Amino acid sequence: MPYIIAEPCINVKDKSCVEVCPVDCIYEGETMLYIHPDECIDCGACEPVCPVKAIFPDNGVPEKWQTFIDKNRKHFENRCPRGCRATMSRRRRAPRTSRRRRVLRASRRRRALKRRAE
Ligand code: SF4
Ligand code: SF4
Repeated sequence: MPYIIAEPCINVKDKSCVEVCPVDCIYEGETMLYIHPDECIDCGACEPVCPVKAIFPDNGVPEKWQTFIDKNRKHFENRCPRGCRATMSRRRRAPRTSRRRRVLRASRRRRALKRRAE
């Protein structure tokens, strides 16, 4: 998890960091912004533009804000990997096609192809 947003961002959220992030991996939460741990490319561009110095590399987070390392990661757990606000459990999943139906569909397709070839 390369870069972390810590407490000073809470209720500031001016989004200067979002403007400079080359991979759009900073997402807005209710009270602060979070960096997606798998999308951040560790470029460091966001760190100097934060007006309240809320952004740190994961190995440089001050002791008092160590809990924010976990908070950034947890913000994305069970969420859409693109960082949208819908949780996986709330998102509608496409109904799974049963194995029997998939087999039937495949054999129907094979027969149609065979007929076309004749
Ligand atoms: S370090 Fe770079 S990639 Fe990571 S959040 Fe900051 S600007 Fe985006
Ligand atoms: S620049 Fe700093 S204060 Fe502004 S949104 Fe980003 S982390 Fe929060």
